[in-house]
Amino acid sequence: MGNIVAIVGRPNVGKSTFFNRMIQRREAIVDAVSGVTRDRNYGKSDWNGRTFSLIDTGGYVKGSDDVFESEIDKQVELAIDEADAIIFMVDVESGITGMDEDVAKLLRKVKKPVFLVVNKVDNAKRLENAVEFYSLGLGNFYPIASTSGSGTGELLDALVESL
Ligand code: GDP
Ligand code: MG
Repeated sequence: MGNIVAIVGRPNVGKSTFFNRMIQRREAIVDAVSGVTRDRNYGKSDWNGRTFSLIDTGGYVKGSDDVFESEIDKQVELAIDEADAIIFMVDVESGITGMDEDVAKLLRKVKKPVFLVVNKVDNAKRLENAVEFYSLGLGNFYPIASTSGSGTGELLDALVESL
């Protein structure tokens, strides 16, 4: 089995915060497809003695805060092709958005392990709010706070188990 994990999700949910917390060293960006890989960041991480590669998608387009939905879809399609497991990150602070629903629709068809991660669960109230994400139809979810690392242990246990 391979060991590539891609983090997908719409902008501002906390993908890069999580990525930066996880990685020990960065790898050079492999410029296989110009204009696509440019938007991706690669790192190495390990947990429970298992090493894996982590791909942080999106958010690297210079000079623009706007990320078109088609761009996110492209990142998700790439992740589906390239990764052995996918972290789909959403944000409890904003709740479910249309973009989340579109990404969920793509991911529901995927045969690879998909981990629905609800980020920004900073307190008990937010944990209660997180139950709405069941409606994305991806099963159970992992509540985490990327800024503190809360909840990430359970996620990583399950993640490396799937690789
Ligand atoms: P990305 O666009 O998905 O890569 O999101 P970023 O990692 O750039 O984070 C977007 C914003 O969310 C930043 O202001 C982060 O500090 C904030 N953020 C990330 N994780 C958490 C968290 O666990 N709790 C809270 N309250 N904010 C967070
Ligand atoms: Mg980012």
